[in-house]
Formats: sequence, C-alpha cells, structure tokens
Amino acid sequence: MTKNKSKLDFAGDWSYAPAPESTKVKIDKRYKLFIDGKWVEPTSKKYFDTISPSTEEKLAEVAWGNEKDVDKAVKAARKAYEGVWGKMSGKERGKYIYRIARMIQERARELAVIESMDGGKPIRESRDVDIPLVANHFFYYAGWADKLDYAFPNLRPKSLGVAGQIVPWNFPLLMVAWKLAPALACGNTIVLKPAEATSLTALKLVEILQEAGLPDGVVNVVTGFGDTGAAIVNHPDVNKIAFTGSTGVGKIIQKAIAGTDKKCTLELGGKAANIVFEDAPIDQAVEGIVNGIYFNQGHVCCAGSRLFVQESVADIVIRKLKDRMESLIVGDPLDKNTDIGAINSKDQYQIVKNYIKIGKEEGAKFHENSCALPKKGYFVRPTLFTDVSQSHRIAQEEIFGPVLSVQTFRTVSEVIAKANNTEYGLSAGIWTDKGSKIFNMTTKMRAGVVWANTYNKFDPTSPFGGYKESGFGREGGLHGLDAYLDLG
Ligand code: ADP
Repeated sequence: MTKNKSKLDFAGDWSYAPAPESTKVKIDKRYKLFIDGKWVEPTSKKYFDTISPSTEEKLAEVAWGNEKDVDKAVKAARKAYEGVWGKMSGKERGKYIYRIARMIQERARELAVIESMDGGKPIRESRDVDIPLVANHFFYYAGWADKLDYAFPNLRPKSLGVAGQIVPWNFPLLMVAWKLAPALACGNTIVLKPAEATSLTALKLVEILQEAGLPDGVVNVVTGFGDTGAAIVNHPDVNKIAFTGSTGVGKIIQKAIAGTDKKCTLELGGKAANIVFEDAPIDQAVEGIVNGIYFNQGHVCCAGSRLFVQESVADIVIRKLKDRMESLIVGDPLDKNTDIGAINSKDQYQIVKNYIKIGKEEGAKFHENSCALPKKGYFVRPTLFTDVSQSHRIAQEEIFGPVLSVQTFRTVSEVIAKANNTEYGLSAGIWTDKGSKIFNMTTKMRAGVVWANTYNKFDPTSPFGGYKESGFGREGGLHGLDAYLDLG
C-alpha cells in the first residue's frame, strides 16, 4: 500500500487504510485459442506470459496465434456465418446478446478484478466504469438486433460476413464490447484479437459466450501480437476490419487493405484539448482536468492531455490543480482508495518516463505529485508541465500516461487555432458558463467528441470516433451499426 503524504494534510502523517478488493478469481495457468467453439492449441505451440503491471508477477500464459490459426478461425467464422448466425432472425440473435449482457452483469466483480490485475487500472475504474459499460453495450445493441430495418428506413441492411476485430490494452474488455456487440447484432461472425498485454478478460468473456450457448464459430478469439493482428487484416476471406490502437498501426492496416473490398473502421490516437474559459466553474473544471488526464493513468486515447487555460484564471486554475494532484493516491490497483494505478506495461512505462525527460529537456516547467510510489510495479506520479509551447513534443505527441501539458490563451479564436493545431482530432473538452460559447466552440473544434463542462463520459447510445489522424468511422449508437452493415 502506498503511503500517500499530502500537503493538504495539516495533521501530519496519515493515509487511508488499505481497502483491497477481494482477489478470489480463477485465472487458468494457460489459455489456448478459442476457435469454432473449442479451446485449441496454437499451431506453433508458442505461449507468452501476461504480467500484472502492478506486481510484475506472471498471471498466466496465453497462446500466440499465427497465420494458420487465423485461417482456421476465419474458416470457422465463415461456416458459422453461412450455416447459422447470418441466417438467424434478428429477434433470435438479440436473445443471445441480452443473455450475454446479463451474464456479464452477474460476473461483473470478477471481470473488474481481472481487468485491474492484468491491466493495472484502479478497481474503482474497472468496477464502476469499464464493466458496467461493457454490459450496457451488449444490452444496447441487443435491442437493435431485430430493428435494423427501422434503423435504416427504405434501405435493406445486410450483414457483411466475417469481421476481424483488433483491440488495444487501455480498455481491454470495453473495446471488445464496442466491437462484438454491434457486429453480433448485425448478424456478422467474428475473429477477435485482444492486445497482447491484456488478453485475460476477453478470454474470460469466452466462458460467458459458451455458457450463453452462442453457436460454435460465431466468435473466435485468436490471441497474440502484431503479427497475429496482421494475419487477420491480410486474410482474404475477412469482410471487415475494426481496429482500435495506434495511428502508426492504423496506417499499416489501411495500406494493407487498399484495393480490397474490406470495410474498415479505425479508432486511433488523440491529443485532446481541454479548454478552461475564465467564466468556467473553476472547481468543477479542475475535477474534470484530473478526470481527463490522471484517472486511468492517462491511458485513454481521448485523454485531455493538452490543457488550455484563459490567462486571467491561469494562476488560480493551476494552483487548485496542483493542490488536487497532491491528494491523488497512486498505488495498488486493487485498493478501492487508489486513484491512479499502474502503467499498463514495462514498455509503456518507459515511453512515459521518456516523454517526461523530453518535456524537461525542451524547457517546460515540471511539477509532479510528491507521493511515494510502490517499490514494485510500473507506477508514474501525476505530472504537469507549464510554460509549454505549441512546438513542444509533449504538446504534439500522444504520451498515453498521466502527463499534462498546460498552455494559456487570451481569445476564443486563439484557443480554437491552438487546439486544432494537431494531427489528431478525437476529442475535446470545454469549460464555460455560457451555452453560446459551447455551441460556437463545438462547431469549430475538429474533434469527433466534444464534452462541455464534463470530461470522459461514455454512453453506448452515443457515437465515438475521430477526425484526421485519429481515424474514421464511428462506434456506438446508431452510427455504430452502419459500420457492420451493407446498406446497398
Ligand atoms: P498501442 O500503442 O495502443 O499498444 P498498437 O497499435 O500497437 O497500439 O496495438 C493495438 C492492437 O493492434 C494490439 O492488439 C496489437 O497487437 C495489434 N497490432 C500491432 N501491430 C499490428 C499490425 N501490424 N497489424 C494488425 N494489428 C496489429
């Protein structure tokens, strides 16, 4: 347990007593591939370790699928599409998806604990945000399964066939839900690849799919690394690729499928502007800034990693922000008091540390929370840089860690120009008392999602996706169905 000394603590040395979540979950020693309704040995017989980033201990071994395994999975998915799932009525498909949603709710605590063990995110986040949203996505899309003709009046929506779905490590099960639920509702079958650092909850979900009686081959899970993902992308019998991950890999995927008739959605990186105007409710804004970049270790592609504060309130916002940062608890993800858990992997930890070094070398002014960090595990304190300029790498590049760069502005047009001056366009936040200012800003921000007087709020009914190098296509809501249908 981290001892968290706080400057706000006038009484001296105190910290919250540990409040660990029960870790009585069953994780197998070894996970095979899930193809055609069965657990099968990977052709290569290779397995890799999945590590807990907070303890650095090995949690399990996971199969490393190759091209041959992907081919088997695609064949199983095709068979299931043609034989069962593609022919099934929407009403019947919906029943399966509702059943899966209910079973996720029943096993929510177990899934949340495994998510925090494998991915490092605080249990509060996985228990209160990730897993409830996972269930909600399945509930929401279950409702659409028999209403596709009403969703697209005068069109004849048809399923696509086999969808290849590749997900990242930041919201391991939530990204799986974003992809599986609409694909299943629309009548497609699936070959899914979780991220190599965080495969466990997707593999646990397989138990739920089996218990729900989902027909064999409808969902196949092929774990592995980038080469496994590439084999899915390049397989000739895959009709649709849905990818969430880095812009670099997104570009590789786009090149790989150019000239084919594969449908594609890409949800890539971000460098969101969180903008605080002088008429904003300051305390609320400070909480939104903290939520936007520090909770979940900044492991959110839509993280509010660039803060723009109007000059007249910059001093007070930064002072309040530093005070709030000081009260954040960094430590054991399974402790219910923890605000900031572990960075997801050793590689990502090194990337974040390197960006902090770059920020200092570029001349920005560095500040971090003063808490002690656990001796083991990949932990980084919440960090902020002031005196940042537009050209600094920490203001331009995606860091994916609890590192905030702060800039100031005077006018609305100045902040719009600065906020849009990025290759990305996934999300943004605006804090102001004036509704008219919100509407003016939302029309001018080149960002797929703009939050007003809140941040990082998700809902299955609301579409999510980016502009520019943040990708294309939308996930969530009615728009999310479009990505899995041929509308003629
Ligand atoms: P991040 O930086 O968020 O880890 P990546 O883009 O590296 O994002 O990884 C996201 C997902 O894409 C992971 O499941 C990873 O294994 C997979 N992946 C990596 N390289 C490729 C590739 N060339 N083709 C397809 N999938 C890939």
